[in-house]
Amino acid sequence: MKSVTVIGASLAGLHAARALRSQGYDGRLTIVGDEHHRPYDRPPLSKGFLTGTTGQDQLALADAEETAELDAEWLLGTRATRLDTGSRTVHLDTGRTLTTDGVVLATGATPRRLPGPGSPPPGTPTLRTLEDARALRRDLARGGSARVTVIGGGFLGAEVASSCAALGHDVTVVEAATLPLIPQLGHDMAELCARLPADHGVTLLTGTGVARLHSAGADDRVTAVELADGRLLPADVVVVGIGVRPATDWLADSGLPLGNGVRCDAGCVTPIPAVVAVGDVANVDGIRAEHWTNATEQPATAVRNLLAGHTAAAHRALPYFWSDQYGVRLQFAGRRLPGDTPRILEGSPDDRSLLAGYERDGRTTAVLALNRPRPFLRLRRELARAAQPTSA
Ligand SMILES: Cc1cc2nc3c(=O)[nH]c(=O)nc-3n(C[C@H](O)[C@H](O)[C@H](O)COP(=O)(O)OP(=O)(O)OC[C@H]3O[C@@H](n4cnc5c(N)ncnc54)[C@H](O)[C@@H]3O)c2cc1C
Repeated sequence: MKSVTVIGASLAGLHAARALRSQGYDGRLTIVGDEHHRPYDRPPLSKGFLTGTTGQDQLALADAEETAELDAEWLLGTRATRLDTGSRTVHLDTGRTLTTDGVVLATGATPRRLPGPGSPPPGTPTLRTLEDARALRRDLARGGSARVTVIGGGFLGAEVASSCAALGHDVTVVEAATLPLIPQLGHDMAELCARLPADHGVTLLTGTGVARLHSAGADDRVTAVELADGRLLPADVVVVGIGVRPATDWLADSGLPLGNGVRCDAGCVTPIPAVVAVGDVANVDGIRAEHWTNATEQPATAVRNLLAGHTAAAHRALPYFWSDQYGVRLQFAGRRLPGDTPRILEGSPDDRSLLAGYERDGRTTAVLALNRPRPFLRLRRELARAAQPTSA
């Protein structure tokens, strides 16, 4: 392979570039990214960057020395608009085309919009990019305590709500489901986590969707959120955090199998061996993860297979994610299925500090911790060891 093009210049794209070089690839490397920035870290955007404890200079994922060592051509502020898989040609919005031997798809995910015509009004913040976070910071800094409504009680919504509360704002979270985080944590543990917002004066409204947003003024700013049950929540700032969808629009006519992401086998390889997918955009063997650790781990396997020209290895890492909200570090590892029974192993919900294991047929399938990083790490390692395929 003499040329590889990575589409998406963020976490997974950077790790793919690192993996290419560390696995001995010394050919031409091009990295295309539609943002204007070199890869930066997104998790602080809803946490320390929003509250002001993390500066922009702390977000960079690679320093100048490493960037130089990667010896890549960076095409930033440049969008890939089409992939012709037959000739392996990437079309860019600048009019340039790149014909390449190998392609790594690392275009991540984009925030979901609220359904309905014209909704949300322009300028209603979501939070995915550095620009989104800067705009939200500006809105929050307009003076005094703002009435903030966060639409969506998932991890992102909870973190934004928690950060806004820490800044002294009056925060309400609206969640359509009966409890946030049921899909990720199951009912019982989701119920425990739903107690956290009240500790910090945040109001959590569950079981009601949003009917529409009211806006006013020349800039069409949102002034209130109307709930499906008719309640009206006046708001100075509204943040929409109702999930993301994989960024695959530009691949619509590529012939690649798409469906909740770019579908690939367990080795991150698409039906075209010279095209692999990693990170939030990759649906690997039926599973698409939207977590930082996944985006850092998958590329090593994907690149190995790309360079081999076939699926020589499968990605088998134990899923892991964390979230910092309301003074609690929540950590989760493993593969929980609906019906798995959680059991508290240490600590107590009242102390906001606990370790819980999920069990199925007497086996631990996953582990959850609130503010218990050390025992969590031990159990995570044990779980990872147990999940390793045994050699014959
Ligand atoms: C605010 C926030 C907080 C988070 N906190 C946590 C956390 O606490 N824990 C955790 O585990 N995970 C967290 N995550 C998730 C984690 O950041 C993501 O899983 C990770 O960023 C995925 O990396 P990626 O490179 O696959 O995708 P992305 O980071 O989405 O990067 C994809 C890049 O590709 C670009 N792109 C898209 N389409 C094109 C195109 N056609 N042409 C060129 N470029 C394109 C995008 O603009 C973007 O720069 C958080 C995410 C956000 C947004």
